[in-house]
Amino acid sequence: MPASILVVEDEPAIQALIATNLRRHGHTVSAALDAEDALRQIKAALPDLILLDWMLPGMSGLDCACRLRADPRTKHVPIIMLTARGEERDRVTGLESGADDYVTKPFSPRELLARIQAVLRRGRPQASENVVEAGGLKLDPAAHRVFADDRPVNLGPTEFRLLHFLMTHSSRVHSRDQLLDQVWGDHVYVEERTVDVHIRRLRAALEPSGLDRLVQTVRGSGYRFSIDA
Ligand code: CA
Repeated sequence: MPASILVVEDEPAIQALIATNLRRHGHTVSAALDAEDALRQIKAALPDLILLDWMLPGMSGLDCACRLRADPRTKHVPIIMLTARGEERDRVTGLESGADDYVTKPFSPRELLARIQAVLRRGRPQASENVVEAGGLKLDPAAHRVFADDRPVNLGPTEFRLLHFLMTHSSRVHSRDQLLDQVWGDHVYVEERTVDVHIRRLRAALEPSGLDRLVQTVRGSGYRFSIDA
């Protein structure tokens, strides 16, 4: 499963090695040489996973992990700490700071990839593959199909992801910004009105069944999926 990965590593040679290896395996990689730059990049775009070196100039990787865990926007982003320290005590400290895993240098590219895949799999809730049904609408993530009152609905990939997210997080209002984070994953190159465009397409696809009413606009706040009018 390809992911967007932020590599925070102050040694350019190691950073380049990791980045090349990850790209070769289909991941999208961005890189930062210190924690401050990493936090700036994360503010602009939420990665799927962060590889975070422990020993960094300025703010340490450990402090950076604590900061990310304290912020509701970033607290669920998986973090793998990279470190030269291999002692049990350090490992525990690293995991307590909120890291999901811990890789000791020197590590093989294969080991790092395996850890990344494991953390990404863990991060994706099991429920996301379950069939979701509400108000006459049925979405099957495994088969990538949607039915409105048992009739197939043709949706583009973005509309499909958008509907899946809304159905699995129903009744709550989601701002455009939150939807960009959750559905697009990375909103650097996407404007907020893009969300409106895809909501419109989604509703147009649902309109023949009348189920477009389930995708509701909450004026001034965003969108929600609800079976109540
Ligand atoms: Ca370092």
